[in-house]
Amino acid sequence: MTIDSAPTPPTGAPRGLVVAIDGPSSSGKSTVGAEVARRLHYRFCDTGLLYRAVAWLALARGVAPADVAGLVPLAAEITLIADSRGRLRHVQAGARDVTAEVERPEVDRAVSGYAKVPQLRAALVPRQRALAREGGIIMAGRDIGTVILPDADVKIYLNASAEERARRRAEQRRTIDAQETEQILEDLRRRDSIDSSRETAPLRSAPDAVIISTDGNSFEETVKSVLDAIRKVEGAGGGR
Ligand code: C5P
Repeated sequence: MTIDSAPTPPTGAPRGLVVAIDGPSSSGKSTVGAEVARRLHYRFCDTGLLYRAVAWLALARGVAPADVAGLVPLAAEITLIADSRGRLRHVQAGARDVTAEVERPEVDRAVSGYAKVPQLRAALVPRQRALAREGGIIMAGRDIGTVILPDADVKIYLNASAEERARRRAEQRRTIDAQETEQILEDLRRRDSIDSSRETAPLRSAPDAVIISTDGNSFEETVKSVLDAIRKVEGAGGGR
């Protein structure tokens, strides 16, 4: 079985909380989550990388989403790698670092088609849960608060309008071309629609999630809102 390289918290240290951050594409889950984790000395896991890396590998090998028997074993070839701060923000397929490749537009377009395959999702559930067992982690994705970690101490749902999210993604890619930006918006809407309407673990906010809309917010304001939500639970003696 593949072991993701997540450093465990030092023994004797107080256990940190388990924080789930869900939301649609480019809502800021990963950048905001990683920054909050840095400030709290928590680990961070971007679960989108798992799905992206499987999609990248499937595309490279010509495995279609309908080929479930060919698809599911690919998950065992993927490993998340932690940086020096415990942030699982790098991904390997076999021995190859594919962190940059998985952000390519062709992966953007294909990933949701693979991510809706229930057997693939099932194969990834235990790995995500194992990472959260020690506490002190922020895990970002689509189904973290609803399916993967329904007992998370804090659940956050980050949202923003599709236009704002497309603008941020275009900025990330340093795109200034209007047609390309329009394409990003279209792809994003398509992905949202597949992710929200799939039968297994669709994108939605957990009933007990704190919903944070990031439209018009600065990065720092969103980081502060997430930190406030976590500190409120910490202050109430939450955690395990
Ligand atoms: O978060 P990111 O945009 O990198 O995720 C890529 C895709 O992976 C999503 O559009 C979704 O289809 C899938 N995904 C998922 N469940 C997660 C994380 C990502 O289905 N927990």
